[in-house]
Amino acid sequence: MQQVTILGATGSIGISTLDVLARHPERYRVYALTAHSKVDELAAQCVQFRPARAVVGSAEAAARLSAMLRERDLRCDVSYGEAALCEVAAEADTVMAAIVGAAGLAPTLAAARAGRKILLANKEALVLSGQLFMDLVERHGAVLLPIDSEHNAIFQSLPMSYQRAPAASGVAKVVLTASGGPFLKRAVDTLETVTPDEACKHPNWSMGRKISVDSATMMNKGLEVIEAHWLFGATADQIEVVIHPQSVIHSMVSYVDGSVLAQLGNPDMRTPIAHALAYPERIDSGVAQLDLTSMAALQFEKPDFQRFPCLALAFDALRAGGTAPSLLNAANEVAVEAFLARRIGFRDIDRVVGRVMEENDHGAASSIEAVLAQDALARAAATNIVGSLAR
Ligand code: NAD
Ligand code: MG
Repeated sequence: MQQVTILGATGSIGISTLDVLARHPERYRVYALTAHSKVDELAAQCVQFRPARAVVGSAEAAARLSAMLRERDLRCDVSYGEAALCEVAAEADTVMAAIVGAAGLAPTLAAARAGRKILLANKEALVLSGQLFMDLVERHGAVLLPIDSEHNAIFQSLPMSYQRAPAASGVAKVVLTASGGPFLKRAVDTLETVTPDEACKHPNWSMGRKISVDSATMMNKGLEVIEAHWLFGATADQIEVVIHPQSVIHSMVSYVDGSVLAQLGNPDMRTPIAHALAYPERIDSGVAQLDLTSMAALQFEKPDFQRFPCLALAFDALRAGGTAPSLLNAANEVAVEAFLARRIGFRDIDRVVGRVMEENDHGAASSIEAVLAQDALARAAATNIVGSLAR
């Protein structure tokens, strides 16, 4: 019986994870569930899954949750704050890291230090602290399995020997597919005025609002390029992005002999979640089998870097190295939040990120402290720029 902690249980990935766990009560037990502010949702999840611990974002939220669980006669240790998140991440066998943004960094690192099995959805944590994160995983014998559908697809398409001897495995490139998001065909000069709801209307995936905006700017693919660099040791030149609007091929690996291996499936995150949970076994995820004959066509095209400047900025940050990806990620988080709050326009997101990257020197990513300092500096710089652009 595996004990599972879900960091970010009330989010899109958290809910999909619970859906898969509920299908296999003989294999998995929920150890802890965490949420930032959605206390009612978390209480309902606690009633259904009976975790030993629950963690929320504030003392008030904890008091409300405790009262609700007491009313239901439910025994559950309720706490709040980052230290508690780190505890529940370190205490379970398996941790689903599904908090959005840099807020997920500390508990994910805590799971790595405790040598846990980490199912990584929170790409921002890896972008922020790449080498340091991977070093901790290695040093403490943690197992890191990608949940992001592209990276999970690449993981499934790589040979078992890849981690031990990448050079001998004949991998030429990893190819990340991207849907292109809701604005793939929209006239570029109309992008200034799109609304948060339009940006969050993804054609194929149902996701949280931050990653939905990132998909519309293609910053999501940019963060995934950096994520692929750390997970698979691929250089910027060995990572290709291909637009594939149907989201049926989730990504590919191309080999020196001309072979290309791909993973296909319906666009539903329960597939990569079930894959990583049971790896190396396979379990039912609740996702319907793919019906290829019902598909009219699978299309592919090159990404347009003029339409999607955030993708170019992410490649620049990866090539620059050091803490440049931390600058990119922090500036993007601030800009997306401001866009969702309707303080800046959609195209201002790439302007804020571009200016923060241009106006601030990056350094060496020598320690978590150095990375967090760069993150704080970039947030302050981005907040200033947002202030000057705000309408
Ligand atoms: P979401 O917004 O739906 O959920 C986020 C979760 O994080 C919620 O449970 C929330 O309570 C928690 N949270 C938010 N801020 C927090 C804070 N400051 N401290 C602690 N907890 C906090 O997001 P999501 O779409 O589920 O995405 C989660 C992560 O997974 C992101 O990093 C995203 O990039 C990644 N991801 C998501 C998908 C997807 O299909 N949704 C696919 C690939 C990767
Ligand atoms: Mg993805």
